[in-house]
Amino acid sequence: MSVDATTAMTAVPRLDAPSIITPLPGPRARAFIARDEAVVSPSLTRAYPLVAESGSGYVVTDVDGNQFIDFAAGIAVASTGHSHPAVVAAIKEQADRLIHIAATDFYEPRYIELSEKLAALAPFHEPARVFLTNSGTEAVEAAIKLARYYTGRSGIIAFEGAFHGRTMGALSLTNSKVKQRAGFGPLLPMVEHAPFPRVRTFRGPTGGDGSAELALLRETIFARTMAPTDVAAIVIEPVQGEGGYFAAPTPFLRGLREICDEHGILLVADEIQSGLGRTGAWWAIEHAGVEPDVVTTAKGIASGMPLGAMIAREAIWTWTRGAHGSTFAGNPVCAAAALATLQLLEDGLIDNATAMGERLKSGLERIAEPYAQVSDVRGMGLMIGIEFDTHAQSAAVERAAFERGLLILECGESTVRFCPPLIVDAAAVDVALDLFGQALAASLGG
Ligand code: PLP
Repeated sequence: MSVDATTAMTAVPRLDAPSIITPLPGPRARAFIARDEAVVSPSLTRAYPLVAESGSGYVVTDVDGNQFIDFAAGIAVASTGHSHPAVVAAIKEQADRLIHIAATDFYEPRYIELSEKLAALAPFHEPARVFLTNSGTEAVEAAIKLARYYTGRSGIIAFEGAFHGRTMGALSLTNSKVKQRAGFGPLLPMVEHAPFPRVRTFRGPTGGDGSAELALLRETIFARTMAPTDVAAIVIEPVQGEGGYFAAPTPFLRGLREICDEHGILLVADEIQSGLGRTGAWWAIEHAGVEPDVVTTAKGIASGMPLGAMIAREAIWTWTRGAHGSTFAGNPVCAAAALATLQLLEDGLIDNATAMGERLKSGLERIAEPYAQVSDVRGMGLMIGIEFDTHAQSAAVERAAFERGLLILECGESTVRFCPPLIVDAAAVDVALDLFGQALAASLGG
């Protein structure tokens, strides 16, 4: 199915302003929350009391009929907007045809077509192979397993502030918030976290180009803790997501590539949040002109259907039959949704992410300027973070935005992230800016 850019955008329902018709949470929302609290795992975070009933484009409607402008996209997942007609059609068509077969044991056309497509999109020149997963964390697990298998080494270098998932292998690389690790050890041995260069530019440049952090990696970790010959992979988010929307500087990524080449280490780019068009390129690492050996993706790949992938250079796939697999991964309905999603991205949504990202970022800079409590506005494409001096401030702004009908989400220690569907248009961006301005004034004064 091919959908051109005009169709991709005109299929998007528009809303001039959110419509909040009850106190938040409304009566039906309160009733659901009470039931949820009685039965659902207490580990879930729940940023604010949104009880979603339906979604269309960049609009989410709650169980009381309140309508919100969604600039969180279910944590950067609803890349083509909620229930894009082309994605819904692909899902329905495939559900009628075949829901499940288990691609670990049988062949299936959608699995093959999607793998071909992802291999062609891989951010390196060599041919690629693909392993499909159900989630981001499983894509990272697959990368860890392939890197260990191929190199015969067990060490992994990840970075301070990183988030790679919550299963035991990926969690061992995660270094974002201690509550995500507390009580779960022992985690994987032979994992070291190196410093990640945090660059801020809004109030004057701080953070450098990453050369100090590269030196620390060589002089501290490699010289004292873990020999480079024991390291299978360096795993990095080219733009840290949960850690606070910090982009790795280009010289830093190039330096890591050099270190990997020097020591036979694989460079793994975790693009689960930053990939598939969100930063205005298929992969964020492309902005730096660096080719990784492995890339992981998930989140926006199938517009909300559970799917991920680990994509690696052909030469690395030394796995033999039975070495790795999954019952559900690459499910035909999810794969069909992914194929429709990738088509929409290709047909204009990535360019839209660049254009709307520039509009959003410059608008946020303008609105944030008078507030001394805003320490940074940063990001690329539709992956933009606004950092505050304290967590209390970012939490208050997030809540005030919700109460005005704008969905945004915190990340890092005191940052609010904007990661809307890539279908947002100028009108949606302007409404979001207006609501965010109101939220800043209400929570920070001014
Ligand atoms: N890697 C990155 C960069 C992420 O942002 C996330 C999720 O936020 C993950 C991995 C884990 O993905 P999932 O929650 O689908 O397991």
